[in-house]
Amino acid sequence: MTLPYDDEGTLLIIDLNEHKARVESIPKDIHGKYFIGLGYNTWLLNQKTNPETDPLGKENVVIVSPGLLTGTNAPATPRVEVTTKSPLTGILGTGNSGGYWGPNLKKAGYDSLLITGASEEPVYVLIEDQRVQFMDAESYWGVDTYEITDKLKEVHGSEASIMAIGPAGERLVRFAAPVFDKQHMPGRCHAGGVLGSKKLKAVVVKGTNEIKTRDPETFNKVMKEAETRIRSYPAWKARSRAGSMGTIGVNEEGVDYDDIVGPYIVHGPKGVYCPCSLEPLYGCNILANIKDDPYSDTDVACAGLTLYSGTAERYGISLPAAFYFNELCQRVGMDMFGPFFFVYELTQRGLLSEEQLGYRLEYGNEEHLIKLLNMVAYREGFGDILAEGSKRAAEKIKGAEKYVPAVKGLEVMRPDARASLKGNTFTAMSILTNPRGGDDLKGTHGVSNYPGRASWAKKLGITEEEHAEWLVDWLDMPRDYKQKVFGEPYDVAHPDELLMTIWYNHLTSVYNSLGFCMFASSVAEVLGPTLLAKFYSAATGNMVSSEEIMIAGERVFNLMRVYVNRMGVTAADDHWPETYYEEPGLSGEEDSPPFSKNDTQSLLDRYYRMRGWNPKTGKPLPETLKRLEID
Ligand code: SF4
Repeated sequence: MTLPYDDEGTLLIIDLNEHKARVESIPKDIHGKYFIGLGYNTWLLNQKTNPETDPLGKENVVIVSPGLLTGTNAPATPRVEVTTKSPLTGILGTGNSGGYWGPNLKKAGYDSLLITGASEEPVYVLIEDQRVQFMDAESYWGVDTYEITDKLKEVHGSEASIMAIGPAGERLVRFAAPVFDKQHMPGRCHAGGVLGSKKLKAVVVKGTNEIKTRDPETFNKVMKEAETRIRSYPAWKARSRAGSMGTIGVNEEGVDYDDIVGPYIVHGPKGVYCPCSLEPLYGCNILANIKDDPYSDTDVACAGLTLYSGTAERYGISLPAAFYFNELCQRVGMDMFGPFFFVYELTQRGLLSEEQLGYRLEYGNEEHLIKLLNMVAYREGFGDILAEGSKRAAEKIKGAEKYVPAVKGLEVMRPDARASLKGNTFTAMSILTNPRGGDDLKGTHGVSNYPGRASWAKKLGITEEEHAEWLVDWLDMPRDYKQKVFGEPYDVAHPDELLMTIWYNHLTSVYNSLGFCMFASSVAEVLGPTLLAKFYSAATGNMVSSEEIMIAGERVFNLMRVYVNRMGVTAADDHWPETYYEEPGLSGEEDSPPFSKNDTQSLLDRYYRMRGWNPKTGKPLPETLKRLEID
């Protein structure tokens, strides 16, 4: 039996040194405090690794855990978290993914998978309920993630779910990632190269057990309540049509994103992306549909993501080329936000020559970008250096080090943060305080333009003010917290952005630990702590309040911080690269002025105080750890 029905969870341990598997229990005092997913993974990583652990050595571990409620029929709960000591940053490598693999692991009878040791020869692991086998993967080594998924499904049946690494993971690219059932990649976990170093090509899972809840009747009532709230959220109409691109509205040139994306997408059948009732509402069933060469066979699901429009914009390429770029990243198993834009910047600054790179890289040239991607994934030519990530590569490029666009060693998802985050404290602080570095996915991701874009409000047929008022009313947040955030009376245009960041740090930590998808929180959460507490209580039989749910989120967020502090992160690492404070970005002083270091420091100091962290060291204070019961 598995959580949430049982009192104790089940951890499956794969020992690749010995090609043996065994199980251990996950005690209630651990999953009761941290849930599973991100929370348990962080706790276990803290037990299994230390500052001396070589991320690409056999002593490192990879932990793959569905959330505590993954596999139940709560909306948007197929998620699985992959965590390791990152070979890119040396700190926390963790990423979240959807699809069928997480629910299948639960159905096989396991709440978490711990991968240890390293095999001499390539293997894949086959999990069929209690039966765990180590299979020869020699003939699959070198094959991309799409191909191996098809091949293994042919051998083990279409109901099998497959997590696999591609050529990038095999070649120990430091930002490689495993891919679940072709279309799902926890891109920023960096576990691909770790699995490659362990010679583990894939984990195939087939599960036949039922995932039970303690109080199914109440659980179903909560589901209905959640569904009513989800359906009353006005954004779903735009989202169901064109995914998150549909919520962007109209761009600066007055072109509607619905019209841009429309010709290239088609709606797939139910369940094409995740076993999730929100799939059609959020447009996750949207598939790329490109009829013309050279990208006509592109195989990408959830094609309505703003990720694609962002990629097209970043490299000056077409939307079909951005779809194709994403497919290739999934095929080779590699984070699409690696050092790619850094290479463009260095080329533009004249620091990386045609001779060094091996060809002349032109902005807007689609073939050039694809060539770069393949060079890195297969470590060909200069790609071998870039496969080490921006920071290490810069050590080999004269004058490049000061331009490394990374926080805590992880590339910032925005190519020129000075331009794109001007005045956007939400996103800036979410990036700077993300324990893994580099992005705002553990914070205000998706709510960064709170209280809402004018064009989107217009699209909904209401004024921006009406939209903002509706939004603040809609937020599932205690009244006293809302008053602190928005003041009294509410001033929705000027919220306390740090309080908002902290709120979403905690809420996201809960999502990632219970197995809920961030899409249920992006823009404004349709599933807030009230419903999460009800789901958890009905599923486990342990009654918790919405306040306790948020405290659990705070606990998980602080535990991540404890881990990265232990790996050497200090308050100084919560800053932008020095150059961001000293010079404008490439688009010039007016569009991309330097950040103010003093302002950033003031924000950070206040953030530490609000959190109960030591402003000098950036570590949680002993009393904070005690309050949160972190041992
Ligand atoms: S909202 Fe979309 S991405 Fe999230 S779990 Fe549901 S189908 Fe998957």
